[in-house]
Amino acid sequence: MIDVAIIGAGTAGLTAAIYARRAGSSVTVFEGEAPGGQIINTPEIDNFPGLPGISGYEYANKLYEQAQALGAEFVFDKVKKVSGSFEEGFSILGEYGATCEAKTLIIASGVKRREMGLAGEQEFTGRGISYCATCDGAFFKGKTVAVFGGGNTAVEDAIYLTGICEKVYIIHRRNQFRADAALVDELLSHDNVETKLCFTVSGLRGEDKITAVELTNIDGSKEELTTDALFVAIGLIPENSVFQDIVELDEAGYVVAGEDCITSAEGVFAAGDCRTKDVRQLVTAAADGAVAAVAASKLSH
Ligand code: NDP
Repeated sequence: MIDVAIIGAGTAGLTAAIYARRAGSSVTVFEGEAPGGQIINTPEIDNFPGLPGISGYEYANKLYEQAQALGAEFVFDKVKKVSGSFEEGFSILGEYGATCEAKTLIIASGVKRREMGLAGEQEFTGRGISYCATCDGAFFKGKTVAVFGGGNTAVEDAIYLTGICEKVYIIHRRNQFRADAALVDELLSHDNVETKLCFTVSGLRGEDKITAVELTNIDGSKEELTTDALFVAIGLIPENSVFQDIVELDEAGYVVAGEDCITSAEGVFAAGDCRTKDVRQLVTAAADGAVAAVAASKLSH
């Protein structure tokens, strides 16, 4: 039985792995996709203390290499079941059959991007609809694209796309962006950007790929916007249902835990975006990873 099992290899999970290894714990990290988490898709990180301008990919890679070098074990399998208790130990089972027995557990499962829930959304994904501007933006070089959302992700995506595409629309459901003012100012300084405020995307048009989107204004009026792509950045949702039998989740599905990362179950900690918190940032995810790992290591020794 290992000391600390960590579910998720994003910033919180990888930081937890580093701290738990340095505390002398045996550590296994489960990850269902590539290591690094959400930050991989950020072209440039400007708000992580001491590392201005580092790319999300480079940052995530360094973190992964650091955890590996310290001896954390990695299992690339999506966790499908977690059971047990602090008294008996926890059992983790992956979709491809990977298993692990652990004295303590750190849930660092992050969040996934929210979908629009529109007819044709799945079919058009990869055919004009994308959830990652840095991954797919280059396919639309010199073309017209639209970004849907008003948060930091949407505005950063739109800024990134201004350097690649001829025209960038940004569609947001309110008349004010949620994103940081500095990012909004930067976006609006580009002359190939046009805002579509007080609109939501209500329909998708095209045969085998997107050619236009239907927009609905808050006053109920509709219009069609011709575009070669729609980059969707309308927020994040947790994916914690696999943990619902062992820890308390809130109504939105986040693991209930405070700044000490302690959950409703002894021996289970929650770190990063997956837990209830006000500020979901890289630096707070890293902080959670350290807090959770120190606490889990103390309990498991
Ligand atoms: P956010 O939750 O910050 O923003 C989501 C945006 O999508 C909001 O503008 C919201 O509108 C809109 N929205 C939500 N649901 C819908 C819907 N059903 N239909 C239409 N619009 C919708 O998510 P982000 O992904 O932008 O950011 C997540 C977190 O990561 C935030 O804390 C953010 O600050 C952080 N982040 C930080 C970065 C940085 O600091 N450089 C970079 C990227 C992300 P409304 O405003 O009306 O609620």
